[in-house]
Amino acid sequence: MTLNKAVIKIRQRIKIRPSPTNEPAASWTGIDILNGIQIKTLTIIFKTIGCNWGKAGGCTMCGYVYDCASEPPTLEDYKTQLSRAMKKADKFSEFMVKIFTSGSFLDEQEIPCEARDVILKTLANDPRVIKVLVETRPNFVTEENVLHCTNILRNNPFELAFGLETSSDRIRRDSINKGFTFRDFVCAAKISKSHGATVKAYLMLKPPFLSELQALEDIVRSIDDAASYTDTISINLCNVQKGTLVEALWEKGQYRPPWLWSIVEILKKAKAVHSDLILMSDPVGAGSKRGPHNCKLCSSDVADSLRTFSLNQNPADLSKTNCECKELWKKVLELEDYTYGTPILE
Ligand code: SF4
Ligand SMILES: [Zn+2]
Repeated sequence: MTLNKAVIKIRQRIKIRPSPTNEPAASWTGIDILNGIQIKTLTIIFKTIGCNWGKAGGCTMCGYVYDCASEPPTLEDYKTQLSRAMKKADKFSEFMVKIFTSGSFLDEQEIPCEARDVILKTLANDPRVIKVLVETRPNFVTEENVLHCTNILRNNPFELAFGLETSSDRIRRDSINKGFTFRDFVCAAKISKSHGATVKAYLMLKPPFLSELQALEDIVRSIDDAASYTDTISINLCNVQKGTLVEALWEKGQYRPPWLWSIVEILKKAKAVHSDLILMSDPVGAGSKRGPHNCKLCSSDVADSLRTFSLNQNPADLSKTNCECKELWKKVLELEDYTYGTPILE
């Protein structure tokens, strides 16, 4: 069975529950850095008809495909989704808007051009919005649509974000089933930069079928490979989402989310080499069985240190916590290669 067939078999068992098409899938406020200064952010996950790649199978760890609308949202729906989300930033005097769709903002099959343009125009007309980020698969990036977006935004700061996951084509294909190559990413990044947009790459620590050490080394190498094409690299820590191949493996004891010590090690190593590159990691679900975790005693402190590092970019923030389980993690790095990636500890 191919990896895509295995993923699609799992997807077919999950029903998309009908939900209002004029409400975003999610929205929240937070903090990010822009030109070295902390700024407020509004993240909006628009509800669209969903990721076309994900609907045809898609990525082994992705449960976001189930956040999609059961029927296509209208232009009015998109306007209402935006205004509902923007209410959360009512009191902000300036902020950055991060747009995700659980798919690709630049895929015209997923989100119609009219809706895309209205969203960007609304943001361009709000003087409080100081930067806009949109996420897309690289294959939807063209000279024309990047230029079109930057024109609408009147050359205000614009960032394109890509779920690159790894610089290894083999891991992206055999562990993630991502459906594009490193070269595709490089092309899209170059187009983005040639039109003045900045580039953010998301990497994925520990997709399935890798030992803890292989996963750690993969991200260190990926940062080296992607650094010259990006302004920011954000490392997502694989968590066990519902209705995914990762969940099916986890239920059988064949997958464990990454240790938080691994990401600490990665960030320390990478920052020492790429001091100007912004490196971030938001440890979603840290400390839970489905999320990245160390032991119960230290997970939340280590997760906090990752958040602090992401905002300050100071490696000293990563060294403040210590715990006995670090020795256990070192043993896991040594031994998991002999079990072909099957976890030796919960
Ligand atoms: S990770 Fe992104 S590209 Fe992959 S299935 Fe999910 S939404 Fe689609
Ligand atoms: Zn611990």
